[in-house]
Amino acid sequence: MYDVNSSRAEEFISHEEILETLDYAEKNKTNEVLIDQILNKARLRKGLNHREASVLLACELEDKNKEIFELAKKIKHEVYGNRIVLFAPLYLSNYCVNGCVYCPYHFQNKHIPRKKLTQEEIIKEVTALQDMGHRRIALELGEDPVNNPIEYVLESIKTIYGVKHKNGSIRRVNVNIAATTVENYKKLHDADIGTYILFQETYHKESYERLHPKGPKHNYCYHTEAMDRAIEGGIKDVSIGVLFGLELYKYEFAALLMHSEHLEARFGFGPHAISVPRIRKADDIDPSAFDNGIDDETFLKIAACIRVANPFAGMIISTRETKECRSKLLELGISQISGGSKTSVGGYAEPEEEDSSQFDISDTRSLDEVVEWLIENGHIPSFCTACYRVGRVGADFMKYTKNELIHNFCTPNALMTLKEYLEDYAKPHTKIIGQKLIEKEFAQLDSSPTKKALAENLKLIAGGKRDIKF
Ligand code: SF4
Ligand code: SF4
Repeated sequence: MYDVNSSRAEEFISHEEILETLDYAEKNKTNEVLIDQILNKARLRKGLNHREASVLLACELEDKNKEIFELAKKIKHEVYGNRIVLFAPLYLSNYCVNGCVYCPYHFQNKHIPRKKLTQEEIIKEVTALQDMGHRRIALELGEDPVNNPIEYVLESIKTIYGVKHKNGSIRRVNVNIAATTVENYKKLHDADIGTYILFQETYHKESYERLHPKGPKHNYCYHTEAMDRAIEGGIKDVSIGVLFGLELYKYEFAALLMHSEHLEARFGFGPHAISVPRIRKADDIDPSAFDNGIDDETFLKIAACIRVANPFAGMIISTRETKECRSKLLELGISQISGGSKTSVGGYAEPEEEDSSQFDISDTRSLDEVVEWLIENGHIPSFCTACYRVGRVGADFMKYTKNELIHNFCTPNALMTLKEYLEDYAKPHTKIIGQKLIEKEFAQLDSSPTKKALAENLKLIAGGKRDIKF
């Protein structure tokens, strides 16, 4: 029985409710009156529920689909402005006891080198990341109570925050580890993590159990209820996502929104961010073994419909996507991307070993090339980490996004962190076009005390001061 407030996975992600939703969406995919009503509701920025959003995803009317894409662009611009936050994944260990059939780190893969970074190696990785200009990282580890216990994760977080190299520092450590206990989430919260990230992979229980045949991750309910425990443990920013390609995308889409609605109903705030990864080729993994792959056009529509349905959650894509696809996705609502990523353990300090990567990267450009490309395409590359460091998290953060006020922080913070990047890390051409962008964006800001303070701060940064934030 569907119950958005329930703490039981099978009730807040009800299979029956999803099937009824898909049926409803299919019956209404050319119902122009209903689609117009839903679009009008979405224009009010109040979000859509999973049924309404599923109708938009199923919509087969060409002109209405155009309207969906236009609205996604508009919402993105009005809520977040044109900043794009940059981050990098940091792989600490690829030991894993799980048997996820789509991931090369599954325990039965005997020809992938297993590696776990020591604290000294983590310092080298973080130094290399700081030399690139990164400020925000996402920790990635397999699940292995012996090799990757929570103590190892906590010690590594402390090490990462402690590395201060030249003008660099990692200011936000987001953590992607397996579903765990409330007690462990409390420990992560006390270690000052930014966002807790956990992808559902698939919300379809039967497929989930088949795709995770071995290990603790096999337990669908424990995994699906992880975000509830994380929030009970004090973590206010959580990031959800599915791995598109494992199951039918319309099913995943409806369930993803139901998960978001559940968190909002139970805790008063939804996910801080939603990720949209797609399955990729990797060692021992052939994506054609999964017959639910989606083409670029469908993928773009999913992103647009998520943005329209949930205007307040950040949206993240990784270097799994090609430059061309990332370019289109940025317009439709993506607010965060990875840049210059390595997906192997120890890949930043040492040349990457192809066969220890978690998946193949489609966008192999350096961070500076990504920054240059963003600037040339009218986006502000941002290394901002301000919100959680000044306590704008959870419901408080949502208050700002829902009132469309967050860009008042995002844009000045983006310009200041870009300025830091240009001063310390940018190549000559990036520096020139970056400085021009800062001047242009600054001129467009309304006169306000913030603008005055920003002018001062930009001067301070040019003079050597770092880590100023609104
Ligand atoms: Fe392990 Fe995560 Fe890969 Fe599954 S997806 S095998 S849990 S690293
Ligand atoms: Fe993100 Fe907050 Fe910075 Fe905006 S101001 S980029 S929401 S951390």
